[in-house]
Amino acid sequence: MQTIEEILKGKEGKVKIKGWLYHKRSSGGVVFFIVRDGTGFIQCTLRKEVFGDKLKEIEKTPVESVVEIEGEAKKDERSPFGYEVRATDFKIITKAQEGYPIAKKKHGPAFLLDHRHLTIRERKYFLIFQIRDAVLRYAREWFIQNGFKEFHSPIFVSGACEGGSTLFELKYFDRKAYLTQSWQLYAEAGIASLGKIYTIAPSFRAEKSRTRRHLTEYWHLEAEMPFCDLECLMKTIERLISYMTQKVAKEKAKELKELGRDPKDLLKVKSPFPRITYSQAIEILQKEGVQIKWGEDLGADEERVLASKFDVPFFVMYYPKGIKAFYHKVKRDEPNVTLSVDLLAPEGYGEIVGAGEREDDYEILLKRIKEEGLNPKDYEWYLDLRRYGSVQHSGFGLGVERYIMWICKLEHIRDAIPFPRLINRVYP
Ligand code: ATP
Ligand code: MG
Repeated sequence: MQTIEEILKGKEGKVKIKGWLYHKRSSGGVVFFIVRDGTGFIQCTLRKEVFGDKLKEIEKTPVESVVEIEGEAKKDERSPFGYEVRATDFKIITKAQEGYPIAKKKHGPAFLLDHRHLTIRERKYFLIFQIRDAVLRYAREWFIQNGFKEFHSPIFVSGACEGGSTLFELKYFDRKAYLTQSWQLYAEAGIASLGKIYTIAPSFRAEKSRTRRHLTEYWHLEAEMPFCDLECLMKTIERLISYMTQKVAKEKAKELKELGRDPKDLLKVKSPFPRITYSQAIEILQKEGVQIKWGEDLGADEERVLASKFDVPFFVMYYPKGIKAFYHKVKRDEPNVTLSVDLLAPEGYGEIVGAGEREDDYEILLKRIKEEGLNPKDYEWYLDLRRYGSVQHSGFGLGVERYIMWICKLEHIRDAIPFPRLINRVYP
């Protein structure tokens, strides 16, 4: 037996494949089946000369049936995937029911999301999920090559990391707990054990508004480093993002093109990335006529305006204290701003990474916790990290789906993940 991928890589001659019947059509005594086996899609031709009267029955095979086809694989420029299998033998392994819900006719997004367990069989998702697999692999590769170790934090937590408004609260036996918004606070403990660390894990945010770029459950690629200042942090982010982006542009060029993304756009992504400060961002926005004052947060609309001015990712540095979480280090010579930095993707996509140096001074951190109206008792263990061997340290979080959305040029973040969790959706 061969995989379709092996055939598409140039295996000609006698082959046997097993897969799902994706599409069918017939014309002039030839039945065209497109078969999908998880490694690729290929066109199979079944001819009257070979199958005789049986072809009429074969033609009735319901789509999504699991089939086995033997035949001759040949390069064929006319066939949609460049190769075709001229069938000599055909078998149904499992016959699908008639009436497959995802027919060729156009369905609305709600219908498709209700049938997501089937919609993901579409070729578009095959392409996106391959890229998802690839970019996470490249990220791991980069972390390993650069001396990072994988470190895990709990999903059930007792305190907020990114502010109470997006916390998911749950009953944890006889008390309250929350779903984690980030591994960060635990990573700050982890660096005193393992040094440079990273994770790729889900984070949860009870996002209360519908946007194109927020999920309630998303995959978060995070890293934390001791003995690392803001400059070291930005270098790390740009090197990682350049590595992942260059590699996907080269190795998944065909898939990207088919999704409508020109890989050449991505080959431009090289370190160093452009940098602007938050204050400069406000000036740019005001010049563009956007109603925003210094001290206000950049939302999706503001980021879209900024991000349409760049064709590569760019850093926005030094956000005001008032709009960043308590753990961000205050800039010592400018106490109303933080040593924070976001990375914004170009073409209007906006924030893909949130990052910063962490407050390492016990007294300032305690004051910030109180200022934010948080209970220092909930952060006792976190304060211990400053009591016992506080170290200059920095870290970042990349939204995996935000990154994929930009790389694949998607309209909505929901298509970057197999089963999106949104404000109005936990099924299927
Ligand atoms: P935003 O302002 O877009 O809500 P944020 O400032 O809340 O983002 P951070 O707390 O810095 O984001 O989280 C780190 C990264 O996680 C973000 O840069 C983004 O890529 C990703 N991210 C945050 N919230 C979500 C979400 N709801 N869905 C998908 N990705 C997210
Ligand atoms: Mg947010």
